[in-house]
Amino acid sequence: MAPTPNALCFGSELPASGATCFASISPNGLILIFLSDRGEEAHTVPFSALAVGAGGFDHDQLVLKWTDRGRTFALHSRDPELIQALRAKAPAELTEALGHATAQVRWRRAIRRLAWGASVAVLVGGLTWLWYGSDMVVDLIVSRIPLSWEESLGESAYRQFLSGQTVVKEGPAVQAVQAMADRLTAHLVESPYRFQVTVVENHAINAFALPGGYIVVFSGLLKQANGPDEVAGVLGHEMNHVLLRHAMERIVKNMGLVAVITVLTGNQQGLAGVMKELGIELVTLKFGREQELEADLEGLRLLHRARVSPDGMITFFQRLAESEGRMVALLSTHPMSEARAERLRTAAATLPRMTPEPFGIDWQAVQGAVR
Ligand SMILES: [Zn+2]
Repeated sequence: MAPTPNALCFGSELPASGATCFASISPNGLILIFLSDRGEEAHTVPFSALAVGAGGFDHDQLVLKWTDRGRTFALHSRDPELIQALRAKAPAELTEALGHATAQVRWRRAIRRLAWGASVAVLVGGLTWLWYGSDMVVDLIVSRIPLSWEESLGESAYRQFLSGQTVVKEGPAVQAVQAMADRLTAHLVESPYRFQVTVVENHAINAFALPGGYIVVFSGLLKQANGPDEVAGVLGHEMNHVLLRHAMERIVKNMGLVAVITVLTGNQQGLAGVMKELGIELVTLKFGREQELEADLEGLRLLHRARVSPDGMITFFQRLAESEGRMVALLSTHPMSEARAERLRTAAATLPRMTPEPFGIDWQAVQGAVR
């Protein structure tokens, strides 16, 4: 069996890129075996003809040089066994030079490792800074999440949630919520999402949106609202959580580097798996203060474009926040504060004058249609 090459040989009759060979050490000198079309060719170079040095691209290889009948040859190798054997068997003057050369090789390697370590540290430090110091990396990663991932994550959470609920399939409440959603979606600018709104029989005063555009409105919310403008305000806010990809931002931020790797390697199952492991539930996902504010302001603009009075949104959120002792689930994921209401009022005042178009929905009929 031919031995595995462990060295490259250079010389006048050899290819410019070098010839692979197997080098070993005998008591007499260096033995070289070249594999060619004619089979194996072995050469012996006596120790007395050898000169030792370090060389190669980064001075990290053992280099042996010799001349044979006026022609110069060189052998480059990184094989530790070859270096070991040379040290054990070569005469003293050669091993001294070898010691010097291997020290040089080690030094070069240490320097290179140090440089590597330093650049890795700088990279990790930079990423950490970017991660915690700004949302740049999070935004970049979120922008790389395909829409189909978002849709399938949202859809599976939606199905799972609805399977434990009584879905209201038809009637005035469903028609009213659909009419509000249609009015708002007609005024979206370049939205890739197809919003789907479902009403469930549930006393909790709640509504939420899942990635991909799946929205759930609880009958408790409809019962608590004084009219369609208030519910449209909640819808406008929820839709903007979807449009602004807030859930994905939260997930990526929570998952940290794992999300980066999962997304960069294009692994959707990985993302879903890690979310499960970390206990990230889309249905109860809490948004950040900045995200709430963003959804408020964009929601407000959407209402304005759709000619829905923004007052409903502001007063409804505020009324919920003030209703103490009641089960307002919406507030557990959407904490309302006086400052937030104030920002909304200020923003609403800066929008151009607009005459609202009432929905023309029989609100009593809507409230009477759900429990
Ligand atoms: Zn919100």
